[in-house]
Amino acid sequence: MTLRYKVGCTICNQKYLMRISVGHSEKQSHIIECSECKTNMSLELLVNFQNISCELNCIDNCEEIDFVDHGFESNGEYIIRNLHPELLIPKEFISDGVYNANIFEGGRLAEERKNKIGLIEESNLKITKDFISNLNRIDKNWDILKIAWKMKNNKQSNKLIEKQLQKYKSSTIKSDIEFDEIMFDFNNTILFPDFVDFTPNFSKNIREIFKHNNKMDEEYVKCIKYYKENLLSDNIKKFYDIYCDFFELYNDYKPFLTYITTSQEVNLESIVSSDNFEKTKMFYGKLFEAYTSNISFITMLHNIFKGRDFDKLENISFEKYLSTEKAARTENFKNTNEFKFFHEYIDSKLRNASHHGNIEIKDNIVTYKAGTPLKEYTMTYTKYLEMCTQLFLRFVILHQLQILKYYAYLKYNR
Ligand SMILES: [Zn+2]
Repeated sequence: MTLRYKVGCTICNQKYLMRISVGHSEKQSHIIECSECKTNMSLELLVNFQNISCELNCIDNCEEIDFVDHGFESNGEYIIRNLHPELLIPKEFISDGVYNANIFEGGRLAEERKNKIGLIEESNLKITKDFISNLNRIDKNWDILKIAWKMKNNKQSNKLIEKQLQKYKSSTIKSDIEFDEIMFDFNNTILFPDFVDFTPNFSKNIREIFKHNNKMDEEYVKCIKYYKENLLSDNIKKFYDIYCDFFELYNDYKPFLTYITTSQEVNLESIVSSDNFEKTKMFYGKLFEAYTSNISFITMLHNIFKGRDFDKLENISFEKYLSTEKAARTENFKNTNEFKFFHEYIDSKLRNASHHGNIEIKDNIVTYKAGTPLKEYTMTYTKYLEMCTQLFLRFVILHQLQILKYYAYLKYNR
């Protein structure tokens, strides 16, 4: 369903015909830069799925106005702007009066996925249905988990945490189980469908290898013990902080989850329907810091995998490694096939720019500066958000692995 709203920029009075596609959430937010005065207009659509009604709220720098709607094409007095909360709009159709993102872009994605992975219609439909119900449940579940997680970090009573966890909604698990299991399930809903098997497969592979070698098996137990005593609480705090940041901007990253977790190529020239750059510009830098900190867990597993002590890298000790530059923390395993996934989407130039605020946007192009002397680089905003989401998915998998390994350790070595 595509709705038409007549909206005016309250700063320069430019008129817009907003053609907003209805997504699958009760609230969808759009921040759009006025093409005349470059002011950010902010609006939200509230959708009531029970009685199928919608309400538009103009939040910042815009208002609902009235003018004659000329149908498929503007008469030049207003700008047509297409918006979709979960799909990217190809650049050439951003102001097209006939374009329907659900039919064209949504249809294209469904068809391509079907052809690529050879799914039969029925199972493809089931995955799509599960995926959509996940997309809408994720942010609501996050609001519940965030409270429980914070209580857990502050060592509040288990009773209170359990009561909070009862509110968690899942189609795969019951809610009367432990926090870590619920967190694992929640992470699965973010990774569904194509990234969901990574953690169990990776974990099983290395366990099989370690199990058949006494030294590796011993080092593995030492590694988890070291992790528990030295890294666990700091790592969990970093996971928590980044999840908070990500879900504050969930609306902006949601379309990218749609494409990436279903292994669809993101067209980097396509346009997002919410341009919240003022908030997203710091995210890559923060995520990079947390990711390259917590990645030490993977480095320890890699040391064992290479037949060394868990705390020995090829040339340096683990203690020394922990004091090296964050940008180089994934270098040690980047040439090992089984581990190189965790080295992808690491861009220290982008990290420096994002971290130090040397990053700006103009007409959907992000310009960032890094290095000494400072050198200028560019990428589309769509590419920037893709980088953030791709690295975040790897961060979630890292969290999955830590839960899985630690949980299994507690179970068998308590
Ligand atoms: Zn304006």
